[in-house]
Amino acid sequence: MSKVFEYFKQVGGAFGPSGREDDVREVIGAMAGDLCDDIQTDALGNLICRKKGTAEDKKKIMFAAHMDSIGVVATFIDEKGFIRFSQVGGLSWSDLINIQIRFANGTRGVISVEEKTPWREMTQGNLFIDIGVKDKEDAERMVRVGDFAIFEAQPFTQNGVLCGPYLDNRIGCVTLLLAMEQLPETVPSDVYFVFTAQEEVGLRGAGPAAYAIQPDLAIAVDVTDTGDLPEQKYPMACEMGKGPAVKIMDSSVICSPEVVKLLDDTAKALDIPTQHEILKFGGTDTAMLQKTRMGALAGAVSIPTRYIHSPSEMCSEADVENAAKLLAAVASK
Ligand SMILES: [Zn+2]
Repeated sequence: MSKVFEYFKQVGGAFGPSGREDDVREVIGAMAGDLCDDIQTDALGNLICRKKGTAEDKKKIMFAAHMDSIGVVATFIDEKGFIRFSQVGGLSWSDLINIQIRFANGTRGVISVEEKTPWREMTQGNLFIDIGVKDKEDAERMVRVGDFAIFEAQPFTQNGVLCGPYLDNRIGCVTLLLAMEQLPETVPSDVYFVFTAQEEVGLRGAGPAAYAIQPDLAIAVDVTDTGDLPEQKYPMACEMGKGPAVKIMDSSVICSPEVVKLLDDTAKALDIPTQHEILKFGGTDTAMLQKTRMGALAGAVSIPTRYIHSPSEMCSEADVENAAKLLAAVASK
């Protein structure tokens, strides 16, 4: 089993929809503990791991990967025990039909759909969660309004490709853990590895973390779309397996050209394949890293990923390994 998959199985399986990141934070904290000098959790739930630098006039480098995932929250339980829900983060209703979900207390269920509603008129309001109970009273013993749930699906690897729920962005968290492992004994700069909270609901955790750290250089790690599928709506020059992507811009940020150059040059020196990424729809923590306090030089390394925000996201393990190698090299400079 590859290390990428081994780590993903631990980090990816942990419960942690936005605002409910306790379990995933605990799992990552346990894995990161031996790899850094200190760890703290702030009020928003960001996990901040630091490796101390040795240089006299040391700078601060911040890497950030959001650890929260998308999910659903129960909003209403009807007389027959069917549960209506609202989205946590951006969900597309067509990704949700007849998939399994799991609540924090272990209750499992299936999301299904009102058959009478024509597909053209379908919204998330026409979906419901079925936990297989006989009535409301039964349901309320297992789920309360306000309970969060996540997708439940088995991840797999095959021919160097990894597939499963929540690559967005547990694969970014795995990338940071792999980079931490590759750091040399001593590094010149203070290096912060931050696992941020509540990215999926509006980049909420990264700003306060960047405010506290005040980095000189900040790099986010997240997934990005690919343009390599049949008959896609928009062309995109980013492919799964062609290397980690150096972000140029997305709808939330224009990356600092200095950071793009640093990543490009470092990758070239190490013979790491990379590609440039422009994501037309979607934002990342990068935006908050760049504009918090008086601003920082900011960029991002993205893992090209197919079917983002579905229960079956897919990426290349080699892209993850190469992204970690690139970050470790940047941190060692
Ligand atoms: Zn996302």
